[in-house]
Order: sequence, then structure tokens, then C-alpha cells
Amino acid sequence: MSFDYDLFVIGGGSGGVRAARVASGDWGARVGLAEESRMGGTCVIRGCVPKKLMAFAGGFSEAIKDARAYGWSLTDGAFDWPEFRALLENELDRLEQAYRDTLKNAGLVVYDQRAWVVDPHCVELADGTRLTTKHILIATGGWPFVPDIPGRELAITSNEIFHMSELPKRALVVGGGYIASEFACILHGMGVKVTQYYRGAQILRGFDDEARGHVANAMQARGIAVHCGIDVIRLEQRPGGIFAVATDGSEREFDLVLYATGRRPNAAGLGLEHLGVVLGRHGEIVVDEWSQTTVPSIFAVGDVTDRVNLTPVAIREGHAFADTVFGAKPTKFVHEMIPSVVFTQPELGSVGLTEEEARAMEPIEIYATSFRPMKSLFARRQDRVMMKLVVSQATRRVMGCHIVAPDAGELIQLAAIAVRMGATKEDFDRTVAVHPTISEELVTMKKPVRLV
Ligand code: FAD
Ligand code: NDP
Repeated sequence: MSFDYDLFVIGGGSGGVRAARVASGDWGARVGLAEESRMGGTCVIRGCVPKKLMAFAGGFSEAIKDARAYGWSLTDGAFDWPEFRALLENELDRLEQAYRDTLKNAGLVVYDQRAWVVDPHCVELADGTRLTTKHILIATGGWPFVPDIPGRELAITSNEIFHMSELPKRALVVGGGYIASEFACILHGMGVKVTQYYRGAQILRGFDDEARGHVANAMQARGIAVHCGIDVIRLEQRPGGIFAVATDGSEREFDLVLYATGRRPNAAGLGLEHLGVVLGRHGEIVVDEWSQTTVPSIFAVGDVTDRVNLTPVAIREGHAFADTVFGAKPTKFVHEMIPSVVFTQPELGSVGLTEEEARAMEPIEIYATSFRPMKSLFARRQDRVMMKLVVSQATRRVMGCHIVAPDAGELIQLAAIAVRMGATKEDFDRTVAVHPTISEELVTMKKPVRLV
């Protein structure tokens, strides 16, 4: 049977674009791709990229204070949100166009419409066009989840934060994960008075406990009111602003409430259930290690599969799928030792096992240090950085590395190469320090702080 396409991709985000580009550009497949919103997906349009640019913008308030401490005479200025937003929008337009050019150069056909699956070899577009295809890749990503509390319509999510008409004076951030903690710091950096509510005992659940505590303390010390063990019962619009009535009995007033309480896979309404594609408890598409669903011609990658919801992971999954199915090069992406960073201030970079995970597995040694780096010390700032290595007593391998420091994302990327290669503590020790740097402490921690 002949099909219109060898592959039809639904979703033009990180995973879908990579898979489409590799299948078409590298392996010569005939590829169609449908995107219902803007090309580039969450990462480029409403995630990593605008978030990081906002983090840079917010970071200048501290840089200006530091510059003064280093002898610069600077007059006070104010952050101009509308001006920044216009620049941000231009940059996102540029990036979206670059994505479109890449796809065009790879020779594939883009449909700027919503698509869904009709049968294992047919997709339908919003304008009613039906296209046949040998394989289908679902790469539809995720969407913010807001719990069903009274007044939830008064809150915004990360989708809307990039489009605020003006900066609020007082913001409440609900949640304790990546997005909540990052935006608490970003808004604070831009001059907003920020309060963060998290229902659990400490923010950033899943990261190393010591590192979480270090980040939370640093955020508090900067002036962010981080409240743990508290949740919002309801939101009310009153003349002074939005009132958040909370589980601790408090009623606080804000100009903006940002809900960052997780994301859910975008798998509903794609016609999958009636074809026998199995979905999980949160609506995620269940796939095997080849990203194949329970229907052999339908594959899925990225956040819609809710494995590890990070851009580089979606990209790797999409690439592995295209190599396997179109390049006769079977490739599995193994979801382990994935480094990540939380872009708080300071950043938290992490790879491998936390102390808590490792000690549940085997006897370990912990090497850790916390100190005021030269740059902050000179600026009379109280900031401390933290470095931690989790080491197996039996094999001496470094099982985990956790860094809380400025630019920890840049540091952990490099440390992750060594940890991924199976470096031992002695390999770290043999590496000569680069002086004077923050990261030299990673190779100069001589004695374990504890054996567990
Ligand atoms: P997406 O990028 O979400 O792409 C899915 C696309 O499918 C979307 O463009 C959508 O419009 C389209 N679509 C959906 N349904 C249909 C349909 N039926 N028809 C046609 N098109 C459809 N990750 C990091 O690694 N680092 C970070 O710093 C980082 N920061 C983030 C910050 C925020 C605020 C958010 C929300 C996420 C962040 N992430 C970050 C996560 C990262 O953005 C995602 O993991 C990644 O974008 C997932 O890629 P994807 O291809 O699975 O889906
Ligand atoms: P996370 O899963 O990281 O955090 C969700 C937070 O919301 C948790 O603190 C969770 O609490 C809390 N929560 C969940 N449900 C409720 C509820 N009903 N009421 C109150 N609180 C609730 O999700 P995010 O939305 O922050 O980010 C989504 C994903 O995007 C991340 O997991 C990550 O994969 C990716 N991302 C990556 C970034 C990066 O790489 N730097 C940056 C931003 C996003 P609890 O812990 O108790 O479950």
C-alpha cells in the first residue's frame, strides 16, 4: 500500500522537530508535521528559552549591586518590563523562523493546524484533510495543571507569565518544583515582592535534601518569603487585589498569583484511546524503550510520554526514534544519569543519585563543602555555594554530584561527563584544580564528611 507520507509527526516542539528533521534530512523519509500553535513548542515559545532570558534579565539587579561593591558608581535604574517583553517577543519570532527554515531545508511539509489520529495509518487535520502515513509520531508535549480550587481563574500559569502587561508589585507563586522556584527567583530579581507557598516540607522534592535546603535558605536570605507546609484553599478578587486564603488560616493579598503545580501530558482528544493506545494514570502515552505505543505504527516521544520531562530528553527520544525506524540503526535512549539544573538564584545543578537514594542502595561516603566564593566575599554578600559528591564505598565511583552555585548549570554539564563515564573519587582527586574558581573545590575535597 502506498502512503502520502512515511512519517507524520503531530507536534512541532523539541521532540517532534528533531524526529522529523532526522527522518527527513538524514534518512530521506517523506515527512509531514502538524503544529497547532507556534513552531518550536514549549521550550522555545513558552518554556526554557523565554524563562532563561527572563532569568538573565532578573539577574542584573544583583549584578548591579555587585558592581557597586566593586567600585563602580552606578545610578539607580528601574527594570522596564514592557521594553524587555518587546525584545523577548522579537527574539522568539526570530527563533521560530529559524525552526521553520530548518524544517524547510530538511525537505518536510509543515501544516499549521491541529491534527489527530483517525486510524493507525491516517491522520486528520483541523481543515478536514486526511493524510495517510506509514508511521505516526505523537509529540504533543504537556500543559500546565491547576488544581480545582475556587477562584482558580484568577491565577495565571507559566503560559501567561511571558505576556504580563505589567510587572506586579506583589506575587504569590504556588508550587515547589522547577517552575515555581525558578519564577520566584526571576520575579524577585525583577523587583517583585515574592511569596512562595509549597504544600510539602521542603521545596524541590526529588533533589538532594542538603541541596534543597541550601537553595531554600539562599532564596529566603535574598528576601523571597518561602512558606512550606501550606497550600491555597481559595482565591478571591477583592478591591485591593487577589486574596489567597490558605491552609494555615492566613489571608494574604497579591497582585498576581502564579500556579506552577505541575504539567499534564497533552494526549486527550487525539483519538488514541479508541485505537487501543494505552494511556497511563495521568493521561500519558505508554511506550516501550523504542518509544513505540501498543499500536505498532504509532510512536510517542517527549512530555506526552511523561518519562523525564526535559528538552534534551525529548530531543534524544525523537532522534533515537528516527534512527531506529528510518535509519536502520536501532537506538534506545536510556533514561539514566540525566543531568539537570534548576535556574533558581543560586542555581542547583544535579546529576546521578541523591544522598538519600544512594544510601538506600549501598554504603556510601559523602564529600561536601559549603563556602563563600571569592566574588561574593569581596562584595560583602552572604551567599554560600555548596558542592557535594556521593561516592560508593565499594567501587569508589562517584554516584552523584550536586552543586548549588552561580552558573551551576554550566558546571554540572561538565561534571556529568565524568560521572557518566564512571569516574571514581580518586579520578576527581587526580585532576588538577583550576585556580581560583568555584569548581576547583570539586577536586580538592579530601576527607568524607560522613560515611553512611
Ligand atoms: P513541546 O515542546 O511541548 O511541543 C509539543 C507541541 O505540540 C506544541 O508546540 C503544541 O502546540 C503541539 N501540539 C499539541 N497538540 C497538538 C495537536 N493535536 N496538533 C498539532 N500540534 C499539537 N526543560 C529543560 O530541559 N530546561 C529548561 O530550562 C526548561 N524550562 C522550562 C520552563 C518552563 C516554563 C516549562 C513549561 C518547561 C520547561 N522545560 C525545560 C521543559 C521542556 O520545555 C519540555 O520538556 C519540552 O519542551 C518537551 O518537548 P516536547 O517535544 O515533548 O513537547
Ligand atoms: P514539578 O513537577 O517540578 O513541580 C510541581 C509542584 O507542584 C510540586 O512542588 C508539587 O508538589 C506541586 N503540586 C502538584 N500538585 C499540586 C496541588 N494539587 N496542589 C498544590 N501543589 C501541587 O512541575 P513544574 O510545573 O514545576 O514543571 C514541570 C516540568 O517541567 C518539571 O518537572 C520539569 O521536568 C520541567 N521543567 C524543567 C526545568 C529545567 O530543566 N530547569 C524548568 C521548568 C520545568 P509535590 O512536590 O508535593 O508533588
